[in-house]
Amino acid sequence: MKATFNRLKLMKTKLNYSELFAVFLAAALVTAGCQSFCPMSKSAATVAAVQTKASQSAMTPESALAELKAGNARFVAGQPLHRDFPAQVAATAGGQYPFAVVLSCLDSRQPIEIVLDQGVGDIFSARVAGNVLDDDILGSMEFACKVSGAKLIAVIGHSNCGAIKGAIDDVELGNLTGLLSKIKPAIDAVPADAQPRTMKNYAFVNAVSEANVKLVMQQIRERSPILRAMLDKGEIGLVGGMYDLETGKVEFYEK
Ligand SMILES: [Zn+2]
Repeated sequence: MKATFNRLKLMKTKLNYSELFAVFLAAALVTAGCQSFCPMSKSAATVAAVQTKASQSAMTPESALAELKAGNARFVAGQPLHRDFPAQVAATAGGQYPFAVVLSCLDSRQPIEIVLDQGVGDIFSARVAGNVLDDDILGSMEFACKVSGAKLIAVIGHSNCGAIKGAIDDVELGNLTGLLSKIKPAIDAVPADAQPRTMKNYAFVNAVSEANVKLVMQQIRERSPILRAMLDKGEIGLVGGMYDLETGKVEFYEK
């Protein structure tokens, strides 16, 4: 009786091991299959590679813009590339080859590398309230393009911008007054029929933001002979865009 019981116990144990093995096998097959075919797994693949001199040289103004668009699409879809940041830090320590320079607003809701899904060493980033231009930022852009080989300058404003609202409302505060004065020409550039011209008019605020981006693009061309020459030769591109705080999407202004 005791022997039978032991035999049964042994069978039960064997069965459990078999079942367990089957479960492990199934799990392994599912995992292997998923790694090959599932889009989720693909986006979860870890990226350790960085921009190199060769990859930067191979890019054009058009492919640089395409990459910014693709990055923003990944961000909006909630499927950013999974990056191995320590590996990217190590790989970029000896040099950098970013493919674009982006001027965007200081606003904390528009962290530009995140919303464009770019990693360490991918883009130069200049941020200032109202994404206004000054000589230092212009000099930084000349460094980015002429010295470091970036292929694209992107000026990206955003919806419901506090700096734009401040300029519309004639805010005066310390050094901010001078910064906001740089936005005033954009207010005048919006047609007179856009009414009411107040910071409470969301559509007007966004129209001024768009005009501001376009004026900054014009200033880059006018104030930098170095960048203008590169633009005329097609060595670099210049694009404007608007980030929507509500959707996370960047709308690029195509020609
Ligand atoms: Zn802003």
